[in-house]
Amino acid sequence: MSGSSWDVERIRKDFPILHEEVHGKPLVYLDNAATSQKPNVVIEALVDYYAKQNSNVHRGLHQLSERATEAYEEARVRIQRFLNAAHSREIIFVRGATEGINLVAQTYGRRAVRAGDEVVITALEHHSNIVPWQMLCEEKHGTLRVAPINDAGEVDFEAYEALLGERTRLVAIAHVSNALGTILPVHRMSETAHRRDIPVLVDGAQAAPHLCVDVQALDCDFYTFSGHKTYGPTGIGVLYGKTELLEQMPPFHGGGDMIKSVSFEKTIYNDLPYKFEAGTPHVAGAIGLGAALGYLEDLGLDRIAAYEHELLVYATDRLSSLPGVRLIGTARDKAAVLSFVVEGVHAHDVGTILDLEGVAVRAGHHCAMPVMTRFDIAATTRASLALYNTREEIDLLTRGLGKVREVFR
Ligand code: PLP
Repeated sequence: MSGSSWDVERIRKDFPILHEEVHGKPLVYLDNAATSQKPNVVIEALVDYYAKQNSNVHRGLHQLSERATEAYEEARVRIQRFLNAAHSREIIFVRGATEGINLVAQTYGRRAVRAGDEVVITALEHHSNIVPWQMLCEEKHGTLRVAPINDAGEVDFEAYEALLGERTRLVAIAHVSNALGTILPVHRMSETAHRRDIPVLVDGAQAAPHLCVDVQALDCDFYTFSGHKTYGPTGIGVLYGKTELLEQMPPFHGGGDMIKSVSFEKTIYNDLPYKFEAGTPHVAGAIGLGAALGYLEDLGLDRIAAYEHELLVYATDRLSSLPGVRLIGTARDKAAVLSFVVEGVHAHDVGTILDLEGVAVRAGHHCAMPVMTRFDIAATTRASLALYNTREEIDLLTRGLGKVREVFR
């Protein structure tokens, strides 16, 4: 898509925080993989909820509670549409991708994995898609198997396929790597696992804000993402699961709302999706997330992906031309994440100098320590782009990196 048909200046007006200054300089926000900024429609949805609708859901007979319940359930339907899930009952509200993965590990996983069984992940996962499976394997005396990645940061497909066997109970993979930007061939990986009747969980934390996600086309069994990375509020996220799997799974948390009846002798659990939503949910968060997804749909996910790809190509070109800068993660299929090392300078120093220039990036292991080990580095600096970033901002990043070189000459 040509940049000219993407009115980025108009879009930037939707995000009040982008007009802030840091250290007396205009903010250049390039830390979108950590969390993205919120458009006015999301901020207004939150204010409107608390000002006009605030009430507990699914409980009251009164008008406000009915309004809040309606808005909360409308958000669920919006998310169903966003993911192209077959039913709204397949959409479970959780706190974020981390909780979505833990939910599956602690419910589906604890039933499915027995001593000697295996869970397969890849070498580029975020800690959120490693540790819950390690905890499960430790408890059940199972084994975590890891599909390797090549020097570009792409999954070695043959090695992945070879790991799938009689004892594999689940495959858990990222859709997009937060540390490298790699887009995984999720459909192909899913198909390969399904040929062996192995269910697949996809960690979509870095994909939902940037790609058009269709859970039916991907044919994954579980898909999870976080609201705050998808231009929505913190503390809210989504777990999608296929009905037949969710039906079989035991609840995650016990409490109000997840029951039909309770006696001291026996509790009957509620139907989907409420079986997995114990206690008062983050009603405002769900409504805010619905507004964020509506905003993305209005802009068009395909157009967003095309614009961000253009930015990625531009930024890759600019960074590659800088002496002493080495990109980590050069997959053919990549989202707009640029992880890099600057020769002779620690990533934290790079981050600090850039911050003084108003450029917000991430520096560290990005909750993906095994990725750092794979590339034999301690940390990277990461610039992660979003739909509101501009070429001029990438130029400011490159100029900032020039300052880094001056300081460490
Ligand atoms: N998975 C990936 C790929 C991520 O990048 C992140 C966050 O950075 C997570 C999972 C965890 O997301 P959250 O902290 O919102 O639960």
